[in-house]
Amino acid sequence: MNYQKIIDELYKEIIDQENLGNVASYIPELAKVDPHKFGICLSTIDNEQMSIGDADEKFSIQSIAKVFALSLAYKNADGELWERVGVEPSGTPFNSLVQLESDLGIPRNPFINAGAIVICDILQSQLKDPKTELLDFIRMVSNNPTIDYSSSIAESEKSQGFRNIALINFIKSFGNIKNEINDVLDLYFNLCSIKMSCKELSSSFLYLANHGVEPISNNKILNGSQTKRINAIMQTCGFYDEAGEFAFKVGLPGKSGVGGGIIAIYPNNYCIAVWSPKLNSKGNSYRGMNFLEIFTTKTKLSIF
Ligand code: GLU
Repeated sequence: MNYQKIIDELYKEIIDQENLGNVASYIPELAKVDPHKFGICLSTIDNEQMSIGDADEKFSIQSIAKVFALSLAYKNADGELWERVGVEPSGTPFNSLVQLESDLGIPRNPFINAGAIVICDILQSQLKDPKTELLDFIRMVSNNPTIDYSSSIAESEKSQGFRNIALINFIKSFGNIKNEINDVLDLYFNLCSIKMSCKELSSSFLYLANHGVEPISNNKILNGSQTKRINAIMQTCGFYDEAGEFAFKVGLPGKSGVGGGIIAIYPNNYCIAVWSPKLNSKGNSYRGMNFLEIFTTKTKLSIF
């Protein structure tokens, strides 16, 4: 399969079309990004990489980082993890509070904000120095010691994080947050602030395409069952209230972020990362969704 040729053709096709949607503006720092950026990179488990456009430029990966946090918490888990966060699609926006009351403070899944905040609380309990150890883990799976938090994005988000502050307080009222609220929020905001390029993202998540083993270093990040489960949650919950649409159109497990990035996994084969900052009404990259839909249609490769 000549992935590079298909990527090049689709890139040219999409760049000529109207770029719809809006850049996320609820975090002041995100609103500054150039809306016309467009990058794509596909990395295979055989160590090949194909890219085009702004694939080397770092951007705010936002909720894509929730996959790293879940991977680390699951790796260290003592069994309580799935009692504290569910595995059902929420069908609600990423920052919604509505289901938490009837669900008694148990978030529907680890990829909505409520769930990722509980995962950060679990990491806070599991690790001695959570901020450093989480970053070390991300650098290890990425084979890249330069990956870092962005203090300007974290601070920008803190200054506007009213909903996340509401979420964590509400969850704590049900007893599902065990640590200091400010410590957990600091970890969560820093997690969301990480900047990476499409090239870095697509190679970092290869362990999810390779039964939990990072193919370059051969490091075992997760076991096969954990990897299958994280892919399953990405498939059903990775795109907020558009997860069904992504499964329907693209047919791969994936995760989006409000910075306009999307990663998608084709098990036993590749991880692809796409970045285009303008978001559709559900908060997912307009061009990213579009590209991946046509890409899996043209390659005829999906998990279904
Ligand atoms: N840091 C964002 C928030 O908590 C995550 C948004 C996202 O990418 O879904 O609002």
